[in-house]
Amino acid sequence: PTADIGLTGLAVMGRNLARNIARHGHTIAVHNRSTEKMTSLLEDHGDEGDFVGSESMADFVASIKQPRAVIIMVKAGEATDAVIDELTPLLDEGDIVVDAGNAHFEDTLRRQQALEERGLHFVGMGVSGGEEGALNGPSIMVGGSEHAYETLGPIVEDIAALVDGTPCATHVGPDGAGHFVKMVHNGIEYADMQLIAEAYDVLRNILGREPAELADVFREWNEGDLDSFLIEMTADVLAHTDAATGRPFVDVVADAAEQKGTGRWTVQSALDLGVPVTGIAEATFARSVSGHVEQREAARAVFSQTSDTPGVEDEEQFVEDVRAALYAAKVVAYAQGFDQITEGSNQHGWDVSPGDLATIWRGGCIIRAKFLDRIREAYEAEPDLTTLMTQEYFSKALRDGEAGWRRVVVAATQAGIPVPAFASSLSYFDALRRDRLPAALIQGLRDNFGAHTYGRVDREGSFHTLWAGDRSEVDA
Ligand code: NDP
Repeated sequence: PTADIGLTGLAVMGRNLARNIARHGHTIAVHNRSTEKMTSLLEDHGDEGDFVGSESMADFVASIKQPRAVIIMVKAGEATDAVIDELTPLLDEGDIVVDAGNAHFEDTLRRQQALEERGLHFVGMGVSGGEEGALNGPSIMVGGSEHAYETLGPIVEDIAALVDGTPCATHVGPDGAGHFVKMVHNGIEYADMQLIAEAYDVLRNILGREPAELADVFREWNEGDLDSFLIEMTADVLAHTDAATGRPFVDVVADAAEQKGTGRWTVQSALDLGVPVTGIAEATFARSVSGHVEQREAARAVFSQTSDTPGVEDEEQFVEDVRAALYAAKVVAYAQGFDQITEGSNQHGWDVSPGDLATIWRGGCIIRAKFLDRIREAYEAEPDLTTLMTQEYFSKALRDGEAGWRRVVVAATQAGIPVPAFASSLSYFDALRRDRLPAALIQGLRDNFGAHTYGRVDREGSFHTLWAGDRSEVDA
């Protein structure tokens, strides 16, 4: 055997990851269920490094040095199980199996257990950055044993993106930790995109500016605090003209957003963990709403468009308000995402370092942004931060943006432009900072109809009012 590592599953992601590994001087064994993808990789890119191609799984395994490390990069779900079933009987104790697909972290927990019983190490590795990232440097979130990371770490850190000389790859924690944080990363990506979309919608419809003009606004924003891959890409997409019609590209694209499921998983997990990720949830629901074409058609026929678009006296101020709203809501969405990671880590005993994640998300991945450096700094200064929102830099951003954020939500609401992520983030902010919440009334109702009891502000304990009786209060 000559290969340092093996990779099976050579669709777009696996093919590019294999090329990346080979380009960094590691000899890589490659395999794919249908042989054609393997042979075409060798034909097209065999000169980029040392590839060892195999048609059969057995030859593939035999070509890898022991203890072996084998990366699986196939369709998440049943396909991954099928490959694990075919691969593992051919392996020896101490070998490492890496699932680099977008697995649900609970599948990773299950697979880790099963493989551990057979003396194998199982690693759930989250890879972000799409096709381009896989080839030129992704952000990599590794979940698995220390031992597995000792073997895998050097290669993974070698092929990851680099920011200020630091690789965008880390050992996140054991078993499902890597796939869990990759999932939340994708959820945050949903929120980021929804916020950008709302900013665009508000600017376009309230100021009546064309997409190409708005591209300039986003380009300018990309020079400041909002500097990020997605804002830069927004300018690019808005500036693009459809060749067939000569119209702005964004006007010829069907307005039903699709999803592969990681946003939904994030929200489902957040519900299980009891973490209010309102930004991510609204972003996920907004995609669902956009896809409900029949309901939208029916509603359009019954409820005409509102024409109550507010006039804007100072356009530059309004643009600045939208920027502030976008930034403030982004702070909230990220704070919520990091809360989910902290809570997930606590409940699963993973000991995830949020600061390390901010560090490795600065490059390679879709949510890469200057902003993440601020998050890294915040956790560096205070590793046990209760919420990012109260940390000095972010609290200032929220305070500075607050007035504009409110004006934008009001203007959008008046104009009938949906801003679920802007508005829900603002409500979350308001909920956190208020002295008293109407949850007290909810507790009263619950005690009244279901004797669910309540606490009091002035005394310890749990109480119940005899609603149907003399309305006296008893200790519960
Ligand atoms: P796909 O998700 O489209 O999966 C195609 C690959 O899976 C092919 O190699 C295919 O083999 C293999 N496969 C499917 N079913 C089986 C099976 N039953 N047994 C063996 N092999 C099977 O490929 P992508 O490259 O897009 O993604 C790979 C993984 O990476 C996925 O888990 C995806 O979620 C994840 N990912 C993708 C990103 C992206 O931007 N695309 C970004 C980050 C992660 P064959 O050629 O024989 O059909």
